[in-house]
Amino acid sequence: MTIGRREFVIGATALAAVPAITQAATPTRKLGYAIVGLGYYGLDVIIPEFAKCAHSRLAAVVSGDPAKARRVAAAHGLPERSVYSYATFDRIRDNPDIDIVYICLPNAMHAEYTIRAARAGKHVLCEKPMAVSVAECEAMIAACKAADRKLMIGYRCHFEPCNVEAMRLARAGTMGKTRYVRSEHGFVQRDPSKWRLNKALAGGGSLMDMGIYSLQAARYMTGEEPVAVTARESTDRTDPRFREVEDMIDWTLEFPSGAIASCQSMYSANQNHILLMGERGRIELEPATRYADNRMWTGADGRERDVTPAASGRTQFAGQLDHLVTCIRTGREPIVSGAEGLRDLRIVEAIYRSAREGRTIRLASGTKA
Ligand code: NAD
Repeated sequence: MTIGRREFVIGATALAAVPAITQAATPTRKLGYAIVGLGYYGLDVIIPEFAKCAHSRLAAVVSGDPAKARRVAAAHGLPERSVYSYATFDRIRDNPDIDIVYICLPNAMHAEYTIRAARAGKHVLCEKPMAVSVAECEAMIAACKAADRKLMIGYRCHFEPCNVEAMRLARAGTMGKTRYVRSEHGFVQRDPSKWRLNKALAGGGSLMDMGIYSLQAARYMTGEEPVAVTARESTDRTDPRFREVEDMIDWTLEFPSGAIASCQSMYSANQNHILLMGERGRIELEPATRYADNRMWTGADGRERDVTPAASGRTQFAGQLDHLVTCIRTGREPIVSGAEGLRDLRIVEAIYRSAREGRTIRLASGTKA
């Protein structure tokens, strides 16, 4: 029996999110992560999650602020030798406590630190977006392959119960043939000094930051790769926040089955939504991709039911951290590998090109691994 990409991606995704992945035959030592970038995500969101992990632990920190790095290390019982600056980063090669490097830096720094981590012999978990260009993604994949190291992208929604269940229902054909997907993501970006508004560091605007969730949703809900994209941007360039990057961008993806996805991202309103319309009904998530308390409905014709999965006590972050450890131990590819990040960046480049040139861009087979 041939397993199609849809079955493989969604099936593997759902499986990986099951809390009790069998570990009976694996060693008990938790694998050590070095967190690179002690900003909001690395410090406030990810580091506290190690306490909830079965197979992962914090082993080192890398920061441009030595006092902060020492403070965080001390708070987590790390020795002085497990504190690195960006300049001393390559010395992680000599630290056997570090198995994996988790990159929580501005987008334009993802490629450099992924490649340096791989050359230091470490596996990599890299935040979204994977990088700021297709060329960078390809270089990251090549570096990890050359070093025989795993590369995973921080697409946490593949470990989030509502999204995993939505993918499962879509695969099972519960709503009939998928005809349409809609996804919008945004928040109000208030601070003009943020690196997210600096093109050189962010690679783009809301599309790079939040639109990646809309794009991912279109792909994992349909289980297909788009063949064409048509995009349109709307940005007030006199607004000091948006001198370099876009505020709002919307794009339509056409899939081989005939399904259409209508996606959007913006930096001027809060939104967080995924909708799938099948011939027999809808799957709707709102909020869809938050850190917690996402909600989900299925049904048709005004008889939609709340089918939000019960909280499992296991977070999407811990699921993601432990998934990479499981992959390292079993030799499997992460369900959200570098190839998955590259597929998105290929489409992202086509979205920007379509908006710039005012025409539909055909994607041909270029979006497949
Ligand atoms: P942040 O600004 O809070 O932190 C960025 C870190 O990078 C800081 O420690 C900062 O000191 C450091 N840094 C090093 N060089 C820098 C430079 N030249 N300019 C600015 N900062 C520099 O950002 P964040 O929100 O933690 O985002 C970091 C990464 O994590 C981004 O790629 C972002 O997309 C990703 N992220 C992912 C999620 C998610 O839900 N998966 C959520 C938030 C952020």
